[in-house]
Amino acid sequence: MSSSQPPAQSDKGVALVTGAARGIGRAIAIRLAEDGFDVAVNDLPGTPELDEVIKAIESKGRRAVAAPGDVSEESVVTDMIQRTVSTLGSLDVMVANAGAVILETFLETSVEAFDKQMAVNARSVMLCYKHAAKQMISQGRGGRIVGASSMAGKQATEVLFAYSATKFAVRGMTQSAALALGSHGITVNAYAPGGVETRLLDAFDNFLEPLAGPRAGRNGLLAITAVGRIGEPEEIAHLVSYLASKEAGFITGQTISINGGSYFD
Ligand code: NAD
Repeated sequence: MSSSQPPAQSDKGVALVTGAARGIGRAIAIRLAEDGFDVAVNDLPGTPELDEVIKAIESKGRRAVAAPGDVSEESVVTDMIQRTVSTLGSLDVMVANAGAVILETFLETSVEAFDKQMAVNARSVMLCYKHAAKQMISQGRGGRIVGASSMAGKQATEVLFAYSATKFAVRGMTQSAALALGSHGITVNAYAPGGVETRLLDAFDNFLEPLAGPRAGRNGLLAITAVGRIGEPEEIAHLVSYLASKEAGFITGQTISINGGSYFD
């Protein structure tokens, strides 16, 4: 936690973003601070970039706290939420963004890699959805829950076997949780990005280009967009900003494609 927090508590409420040290999560955390939320940020322990994100949030005049840990573990998620509430006062917006990609073709998929991929991308979302929902229900004033799916959660590809499974799982959990939480005034939605300029996309490139040449990876994704470019993390943050707003109260259970026209669903 930073020592130089501004004193005033946000009347907008408190957001918690996982995987916020870089990439899409970082952009979401900073955008929600611009929107007026105090923001708790999570990433894996020993991720120094988290301090810089805290400073960026505070520079917007908002309070921030770090709650590092591996969100595929239940005790980490409950502690993270507890730390958020005890430091910032409540939990009003949960963004279960943390994720990783383990690239293996279908026939090479090992049980260990599959289980690891499910834990990081799907179990973490289940835990964040469930424990955030319990906190929001106890507060009694609704809330917003948002998760990270992917274009690969709508259309599978051969090299994203386990990753695709996790991102389809996020869609299912998003629908189910939305049904369970609607009567509490809590919406649950997910974003399904196409290629976005982050380190995750670099991993995709490094795996695919040796296998399938320079037209694979980032260039392959670029080729299938209608807009002719890869996305920026801030563009995903704009969508999350809207989903987190009061105005988005009639949107729930949706996994919203944001992919430059790479795939229509
Ligand atoms: P990134 O690799 O740049 O950032 C992901 C962050 O999550 C990292 O800081 C990482 O340390 C953190 N993280 C990973 N496992 C974690 C764990 N168990 N606990 C806590 N933190 C953890 O990736 P990104 O592109 O910003 O991806 C963000 C989300 O968006 C992911 O869920 C990803 O699957 C999804 N996504 C990304 C793209 C893309 O093209 N970049 C496309 C579709 C979906």
